[in-house]
Amino acid sequence: MAKIQMTTPLVEMDGDEMTRILWQDIKDVLLTPYIDLKTEYYDLGLPERDKTGDQITVDAAEATKKYGVAVKCATITPNAQRMEEYKLHQMWKSPNGTIRAILDGTVFRAPIMVKGISPVVKNWKKPITIARHAYGDVYKATEYRVPTTGKAELVFTDEGGTETFRQTIYDFECPGVLQGQYNKDTSIRSFARACFQYAVDTRQDLWFATKDTISKKYDHTFKDVFQEVFDAEYKAKFDELGIEYFYTLIDDAVARVIRSEGGYIWACKNYDGDVMSDMVSTAFGSLAMMTSVLVSPDGKYEYEAAHGTVTRHYYKYLKGEKTSTNPMATIFAWTGALRKRGELDSLPQLVDFADKLERACIATIESGTMTGDLAGLWEGETPAKAVDSHAFLEAIRAELDKNLAQ
Ligand code: NAP
Ligand code: MG
Repeated sequence: MAKIQMTTPLVEMDGDEMTRILWQDIKDVLLTPYIDLKTEYYDLGLPERDKTGDQITVDAAEATKKYGVAVKCATITPNAQRMEEYKLHQMWKSPNGTIRAILDGTVFRAPIMVKGISPVVKNWKKPITIARHAYGDVYKATEYRVPTTGKAELVFTDEGGTETFRQTIYDFECPGVLQGQYNKDTSIRSFARACFQYAVDTRQDLWFATKDTISKKYDHTFKDVFQEVFDAEYKAKFDELGIEYFYTLIDDAVARVIRSEGGYIWACKNYDGDVMSDMVSTAFGSLAMMTSVLVSPDGKYEYEAAHGTVTRHYYKYLKGEKTSTNPMATIFAWTGALRKRGELDSLPQLVDFADKLERACIATIESGTMTGDLAGLWEGETPAKAVDSHAFLEAIRAELDKNLAQ
């Protein structure tokens, strides 16, 4: 069979440890035999980031802006122990943080669902995608441990030096705590656009919730900005696609999410998204089945797995042991990116390949062949056959060949 041709390159960002090993194996077994893979390769592995003074990460993000679609392998975010292990010149920042800042993007996380592994919440039938506003609020707050009695005030001085606002926060009669949070209209608007854009792309409803009844300025601004962007830029598209934008209070949203059957995007403020994404991903089963895509407000996409570099498995691999590391989320990062590239470049064959590869992955697990992490969660009728990563990829390839022959 002739290989599928691509027109525009994908931005390929390689990574670290066990996922770097899987990355190459996925390409060799499932991609390059079928696609004349055209990528612009950036090695975001920690040694190369250190060698280039992290310029490689910036270059990869800029390339994503240029071409529009990227696929990224998990990477190490250095800490003190990694400084020692890799003899680093600096404790480089998280590549994901750097890329997100350059693209001004929002991260959407969605579980891959298979029959035989059911969510803890039994009425969840479809994925719930969580979008987290990864900017500001408590993550950039200024805090003060109030040591004694005294008055705390909120003061704003405009750029001309005029004090335009002053209000007492609390007159402390004893020690306490104090926190100053902020966010920016520009960031909230970008977040809103990315959410509406992704809802349109994936033809799913969008839910958004804050505590605007209590937080009448701060949270209410989020609510208002979302509504403005929706009315001005997306309402017509939503109507045309038959999808809905739904705003409610965060408490009400939590209750509805638990009772829902899934199948929508839940946009969350920074802290809500941090907490809720962990809850939702755990309830869906396994971190190894969670996909992630960074979407910029002007429609650039970077696909990746939500999990890390799976360090514990890598050390086993280095000792020569076979590992049963789950490649599903990394494969789906590739299929997500290839499908998007195919849509943008009008290459139906590439879109079809992405669909068939995803179906092959799901069919492999549903027929009982899976990695060790899933075998423990398996409730299917046939007993689970736990295999190592490479054998799992080969099993997927056999399914894929069947799909492609049809
Ligand atoms: P992790 O790599 O996600 O792994 C945590 C544990 O989850 C693993 O030890 C494993 O459990 C299980 N797991 C995760 N992915 C799996 C998979 N595909 N197949 C099977 N099991 C899987 O998180 P971490 O150990 O906290 O972090 C390791 C490194 O990854 C760190 O250097 C961190 O900076 C980096 N990281 C990168 C990203 C990213 O690039 N997006 C995200 C998170 C973390 P068992 O050991 O029980 O098998
Ligand atoms: Mg969290």
